[in-house]
Amino acid sequence: MRLSQMLFVTLREDPAEAEIPSHKLLLRAGYIRRIASGVYAYLPLMWRVLKKVSQIVREEMDATGALECLLPQMQPAELWQESGRWDTYTKTEGIMFSLTDRQQREMGLGPTHEEVITAVARDTIRSYRQLPLHLYQIQTKFRDEIRPRFGLMRGREFIMKDGYSFHADVDSLKQTYQDMYQAYSNIMSRCGLAFRAVDADSGAIGGSGSQEFMILAEAGEDEVLYTEDGKYAANVEKAVSLPPDAAVSPFTKYEKRSTPGTDTIDKLCQFLQCSPTTVVKNVLYQVVYNNGLTLLVLISIRGDQDVNEVKLQNELTRLAPNYEAKTLVALKVPDADEQQKWAAKPLPLGYMAPNLADDYIAEQKQLHGQFLRLLDPTAKDLTNFVTGANEAGYHVVGANWGKDFLPAAVVDLRKAKAGDAAIHDPSQTLQSARGIEAGHIFQLGTKYSQAMGATYTSETGEEKPLVMGCYGIGVSRLAQAAVEQSYDQDGIIWPVAIAPYHVIICIPNITDTAQVEIAEQLYTELRQVGIETLLDDRADRAGVKFKDADLIGIPYRIVPGRAIKNGKVELVTRSTRTSEEIPITDVVSTLKQRLTV
Ligand code: ATP
Ligand code: MG
Repeated sequence: MRLSQMLFVTLREDPAEAEIPSHKLLLRAGYIRRIASGVYAYLPLMWRVLKKVSQIVREEMDATGALECLLPQMQPAELWQESGRWDTYTKTEGIMFSLTDRQQREMGLGPTHEEVITAVARDTIRSYRQLPLHLYQIQTKFRDEIRPRFGLMRGREFIMKDGYSFHADVDSLKQTYQDMYQAYSNIMSRCGLAFRAVDADSGAIGGSGSQEFMILAEAGEDEVLYTEDGKYAANVEKAVSLPPDAAVSPFTKYEKRSTPGTDTIDKLCQFLQCSPTTVVKNVLYQVVYNNGLTLLVLISIRGDQDVNEVKLQNELTRLAPNYEAKTLVALKVPDADEQQKWAAKPLPLGYMAPNLADDYIAEQKQLHGQFLRLLDPTAKDLTNFVTGANEAGYHVVGANWGKDFLPAAVVDLRKAKAGDAAIHDPSQTLQSARGIEAGHIFQLGTKYSQAMGATYTSETGEEKPLVMGCYGIGVSRLAQAAVEQSYDQDGIIWPVAIAPYHVIICIPNITDTAQVEIAEQLYTELRQVGIETLLDDRADRAGVKFKDADLIGIPYRIVPGRAIKNGKVELVTRSTRTSEEIPITDVVSTLKQRLTV
């Protein structure tokens, strides 16, 4: 392609709307344009990258025997009502765009396709003989994200490959899941990305298997904890670890102490000269269930530890039926305004004990009258501990479970963190890295097939729900993540496999006919052997062209400059910035060789 004939518009300055390098670079280099919040136009260079990523995904999926299809983006509300997700997705969570058609029927734009695919399976799969079956598609998804940001990283309209597999039993699901793990690893490697597969939270559905493929980059929204031995890696939401040992409590006698001005763990430990590992801290959360009920949760956890809100959310979802609810609508630490709404009297904040009385909760409809008390194992294991006295300015010391406080239900709610010892080998400490979630593989089980009545007849003639798996890759997110992982001060450095073009020929001076002639000749020859080549034949100065070539990140640049009189051109490698002079006659063979390695 000739740049003079391309829609080629680069920006010298960083666009104000972009925060992270990859977003700035894609805008500056003319790959994308913002049309609305989280909605982007993929310009011709970007579309080439996206097609390359899609093709790699397609090849690896096809190699596993999965079948490509294309499902509707416009989906009827009824299907989502069958699975029970319509209200949560369109209202409480609000992630799904919905609309009403001219016949007053409600429709939604697909944020994901479990419902549609399960409906297809219900209609078409009859017998175990048709199983296993795996269908996938590469398509635009719509999600009304709360905070669309970072360009293609978190869009409201984006491209995803999503696949769904159907099985007669869990063993077969596990086999396909394993194949997907391999396929996803191949996709990441072929795209030239440094990645890590990590254990992921599978939400309240539980299920044994869920992993995310994280592209390692500072700007990643996710934190990954891993060990150097390569045997453990997990999203911090899911990670487990051994907490550091607790110190021996300096208090042996139970007593109430005056501890003025110690409403934080730090101040308290300073004042009492004790370790935070000897303190039981009591943290208040407020949850609203889908039936409108507000429940207050009091968590007792060791002073040096924090609550993992994803674990808490899963536990509260699990307990939802106890409160005649199905899902959570909101979960947060109640601020002063929130407390005002339900507290019968001012709370002893900073001095609360595990037995904070239920009469702090006002009598109100839609407000559960008792605290749900949960005890993390780190706190359960303490003896002679320090905790609040339910009175501002006072704590108790030397307290023990069973004697001074009734232990509540023990639930692991602790957030693992960098520096903790690993469970599989305590000599390994957890390290932290940032990652961009590019893919997610998930053993779904029978959640959707059961809800929607998608069954098959087994070998023994029984009618059974289909066992399902689902597997997603964010194609557009992955493409931008590749930039986040590979750029320098001058621009993008595309991995060869997904670069929009392999080579750019920059003619330093288009009024020099000798230069133009060599450039045209190489342009033709390179394309003849299938090397994707751009020709910068614009009338601009050489410096401008070199800057643009660096900015758009084409792996190799050829410059037919002064050296052509010696039968040579300059070859610049974008990633290493090395420049060499090579004979014009060797250009095609040299590039052919470098591009296949
Ligand atoms: P996240 O936690 O980042 O919101 P998710 O858990 O909602 O992701 P999935 O529903 O598993 O994501 O979707 C599969 C893949 O689609 C993700 O791994 C990610 O690569 C991509 N993806 C999800 N949401 C977006 C988005 N808003 N913009 C771009 N890509 C996305
Ligand atoms: Mg999401």
